Amino acid sequence: MTATRPLNQLPAPAAAATDRPSEGPVFLTYHGEPYQLWHDRIVLDWTTRTGCKHQHWGGGPRRPCRFCHHLCWLIDMHSRPVHKVCLEQAITTTLLSRLEKQAA
Ligand SMILES: [Zn+2]
Repeated sequence: MTATRPLNQLPAPAAAATDRPSEGPVFLTYHGEPYQLWHDRIVLDWTTRTGCKHQHWGGGPRRPCRFCHHLCWLIDMHSRPVHKVCLEQAITTTLLSRLEKQAA
């Protein structure tokens, strides 16, 4: 018989990927807004419905993502082609390295 464990007893895979202590949610500030990490990265809200002022649909043919160089449809706030996930990962890495430098 397989017992189903409650969610709070499952290991936290995201916490294992970093050296940060797993003492609750980690928040990073980006452009003055707090972001809780989700799967070890911030998640940008690009929906105009909730107030994003930038257009993120590239509209034309797919172009190479500035991070991974695979073709993508989306653009960042400066109209450079990106995958949203690639941009989020890059921002998170930058913010976390800044925090580590501050802590050192
Ligand atoms: Zn990419």
